Formats: sequence, structure tokens, C-alpha cells
Amino acid sequence: MSDIIIGIDLGTTNSEVAVVQDGRPRLIEVDGAPILPSVVGLADDDTLLVGQAARNQYALYPERTIASVKRRMGEDVRLPMGEREYTPQEISALILRRLKQAAEEALGQPITQAVITVPAYFSDAQRQATREAGRLAELDVARIINEPTAAALAYEADHKEPKNILVYDLGGGTFDVSVVRLSQDVTEVLASHGNNHLGGDDFDAKLVEQVTAHIKEHAGIDPSDNRPAMARITRACETAKITLSDAPFARIEEEYLLEKDGEPVHLSLELDRADYENKIAAYLDETLEATHIALKGAGLTATDIQEILLVGGATRTPSIQQRLEQELGLQPRSEMDPDLCVATGAAIQAAVISGQQVSGVLVDVTPYTFGTSAWADLEGEPYPYTFIPLIRKNTPIPVTKSEAFATTHDGQRIITVHIYQGEDPDALNNTEIGSFRIEGLSDVPAGNVIVTTFSLDVNGILHVTSREKRTGLEKQITIDNATARFEKEELEAARERLAALTVDASPEDTPSASHEALQAQTLIEKAEQLMESANAEDKEDLVNLVEGVRDALAAGDAAATEQAVAELSDLIYYLES
Ligand code: AMP
Repeated sequence: MSDIIIGIDLGTTNSEVAVVQDGRPRLIEVDGAPILPSVVGLADDDTLLVGQAARNQYALYPERTIASVKRRMGEDVRLPMGEREYTPQEISALILRRLKQAAEEALGQPITQAVITVPAYFSDAQRQATREAGRLAELDVARIINEPTAAALAYEADHKEPKNILVYDLGGGTFDVSVVRLSQDVTEVLASHGNNHLGGDDFDAKLVEQVTAHIKEHAGIDPSDNRPAMARITRACETAKITLSDAPFARIEEEYLLEKDGEPVHLSLELDRADYENKIAAYLDETLEATHIALKGAGLTATDIQEILLVGGATRTPSIQQRLEQELGLQPRSEMDPDLCVATGAAIQAAVISGQQVSGVLVDVTPYTFGTSAWADLEGEPYPYTFIPLIRKNTPIPVTKSEAFATTHDGQRIITVHIYQGEDPDALNNTEIGSFRIEGLSDVPAGNVIVTTFSLDVNGILHVTSREKRTGLEKQITIDNATARFEKEELEAARERLAALTVDASPEDTPSASHEALQAQTLIEKAEQLMESANAEDKEDLVNLVEGVRDALAAGDAAATEQAVAELSDLIYYLES
């Protein structure tokens, strides 16, 4: 059996190990999970704990536990743990030894060599300390590679064309952004920037602040000095934060959290995504500034970048992806698990060193974007059919995403949920693949919250559920084969739209005028469909408004067209909802 070289991502918060087998990279599980928390501790009876067990005791016994040792690598310090002190290399070696053991168990053979990743900014002393940790764990470090390089290799294992890649890496406690130049033979980090003390833990801290203030206000007690209570709050906030990446609300329920005057204090609080996003916005601004500094350092601008890759668990936060797309005009790639792609890249580098052929990583992703429509701004104007994507193209499947919507009229008892597949910001230019109505909503003012959830499984089956938040009233639909069935119809619909465009748009029309014409045409078709089932009064209104749109179009009067289109779309929206 040839010597296998493993790839290791030795992270500040978590570590992972991977290997290439039969040409394909695969992650190796440690204690039943793909991620090993980078925490080492001593239990009450001095048993050595590495990983989750050590992490579990961290908040309660910090004097017996060491976390984030990576921050100390290369320093000449001794870190106390229980009765003794250890060098950072020794603690890192304990993590490496656990990863090596897991690989030996999974592969059934001794492992002696590894490729280990380090941040691009690591100094020579920090790299040497990492090598030494490897030696202490009886691992010969075949190569130390930069984390952004590893991420680029994971995404582009079989790259052909030279590319400039931006790697945005936001973990639990550190942020790095690097510009990597990938070419056939050389992979080079052109520039790197970041903040060693910024990450998902800071996002948790914002929620912990909110929860602490809530407890003070509602229970009249400050939990800050109560260690077990703060440990529970911190953990609950991290879980809620992760929920908010996929859903618009998250509930925190912690029973018997504290005692006040002999009475138990329970915590029950709902967190809201929009509110949470405001709390972390300043951190995201900081990461975007760093991104521009890295680009400048590489002598490049946003348009020179061909790919943005997301690394680190905290990049699952949807507003990070949105902000990067707005800022750089390129949709970041996130089809690989952002926690695992550095280890995967290390394994690919390891395989290359040992002369193995490597093919790309296989991930099941959705080839289309799925979403719904709502009243929202489109090109700066409120528009009833603005496309709201829930599951974006290239998202790994299975996936579940939810979004909150609100009713627009007082006393609105019915809504129609339209489900579209496509990429256009105007939902009417996408393919409608299903719709349903929910009737009997509460008789309340506008703003009644409806949570819509899209779940797409590996077989391309899409479940969509909409739920009135205050009552739980819900309706759902299942669309089989959502990722394949509509290709032909979509093609035909696109052809029709193009045909409409050439008929309606005269050669001197500006692009936005053609867009208006296209929108008008689609609305007219929609109005005609509605006329079939409308009552006499509504039908007359529809006929009049359609006439108005046609007249304005014929007169070539852009302002009048816009006005007439707005009136017609208001009526259609009203009749449909
Ligand atoms: P890493 O150091 O790369 O393992 O990243 C760990 C950080 O990612 C922690 O702060 C986690 O709470 C955070 N994280 C993990 N999953 C998610 C998620 N789905 N949404 C937001 N943050 C997440």
C-alpha cells in the first residue's frame, strides 16, 4: 500500500482532515462529525479531552481548557491547563494527533505525512511552530500551504485557465480576505488582508448583549456574573444565529436559566433576522473595506476577479453573500461546504505531491434559482412581481430556506403565493412552476407576517409552505422534478418573450423602454387571463386599464405608459390577492 498523505485544516475554532481516494477528495469524520473543535482540556479526573468534550467544558472550566491556541502559535509562551503549562505547539500537537488517529482508523493504515494549512499572513516563526506541532504528533509535514490557496484548489482542482480568485474567509474568530492567482503550475497569494479578532463569535456576542438586556428588563436580574447561565445563553445565541441564516425568525427557550428570590427565571425570546442583520452590519462593512485593501494590494479591481469563494462557517450568513455581490458585482460561490473546503484543498495538494490524479469535487447543487414574488422595489420603483429568490442557483442540496413576507392591505384575508424558477429580478420574466392561495387569514391591519419556506431535496422535489405566523394557518405544495421538468417550457416562454420584445420595441427604443414594453405586454396577458373569471365590474376595470396601457404604448409616451402599467399592475395584484 502506498503512503497516503492527509490534508489538515488546523483552524482557530475548528479543525478538519481529508484525503483523496480513487481520485476524489473525501472528509474523514472524527468522533462522528466532520469537524473537530480546536479545543483541548483536562476533565475533573485529569483525562485528556480533545474536541467537542473539551469545548463543552470550556465555559465552566476555563482554567482546565485551552481554545484558540492557533492565535498563540509562534509565541514564546506557556499556556496553563490544570496543574501544568504547555507550549502552543504541544497543544496544537494534541489536536493533530487526534486527527491523525481518526484518519488511521478510517483508512486502516498508519499515517505519517500531512499537508497542513496556515493563514496567508502567518510569519515564518508561526509556520515553523506549525511544523513542530506536526513533528510532536509524529506527522512529517510534507508541505505547509496557505489557506486561501487550499480553498482555490478545492474549487478548481482541475483548473485549465489562469484565474484571479478572491477568497473571503470568515471563521469563528478570524477574518481573512486574499487574492489568489491560480495558473497551471503556480498558485500564488497576490495580497491578503484581514482582522485577527473578527468572526462569527462577535456576531454571537451581539445577540448575547440583546438577550442579557432582555433578561435585565423583564426579569429584573443581571445574568452577566452567572457563569453557567452565560454559557447557556452564549450557546443558545449561536444556535439562534445559525437558524437565522436559513429562516427569518429564531426562538430562544431556556428554562430554569436563573433564580431570583427563590423563583426560577425562564428565558423565552424571539429573534428577528432583519434586526440581527442591522446589528452585524458594521462588521460586514469592515470586511468589505478589507476586501478593497486586498484588491488594491494585488494591483487589481473588482472586474479583474473571476471567482469569489466563501470559506469559514460564518459566510453562511446570507447578508454576507448579498453584500459581496452588491459590492463586487459577482455572485460568490458557495457550493462547497465553507467549513470543509480548506481541508479538501489540503488533501488535493497532498495527492498532487504523492503523484495521484485528482478530479474535481462532486457536489449536488441546484442548477436554478427558485423563489417567489412580492411587492418590493424593482429598479427603484415598487412593483408587485419583484422576484424574491429563496434558493439560489448552485446551492448544495438538500436545502431549506425561509423568508418572511407581509400582507399589503388592512384586513387582507387571502394571499396567492407564486413559485418561480429563474434568475430575472422581474418574476414575470421567470418561469412560474406553481402557485397556491391561502384563504382565511386573520382580519388584521397590513403587515400580517407570512413565512414562506422552500425545501429542495436531492431528487429535485420542491416543497413550498406558507404559514401565517400569528395563527399557524398554512398551505403547501409539492412540485416534482422542479430542477428538470421546466427546461423546455422555460425555453418556449423565453422565445415568446423575445418575440414580444421585437414586436413592441421600435429600433430607437432605449433598453429601459423595451423593458417597459415587455412588462406591459406581460401584464396585458395576465389581465386577459383574469378577465375570464372576473365579475362584470372588475372586468370592465381591467378592459379600461388595458386600453389605457395600449394607448400609451401606441403613443410612445414613456411617462403615460409607466402610469398606466402601474395602475393595471395594482388592480391585478388586488384581484389576485
Ligand atoms: P469556522 O471557524 O470556519 O469553523 O467557523 C465557525 C463560525 O461559523 C462560528 O462562529 C459558527 O457559529 C459560524 N457558523 C456556522 N454555521 C453557520 C451558519 N449556518 N450561519 C452563520 N454562522 C455559522
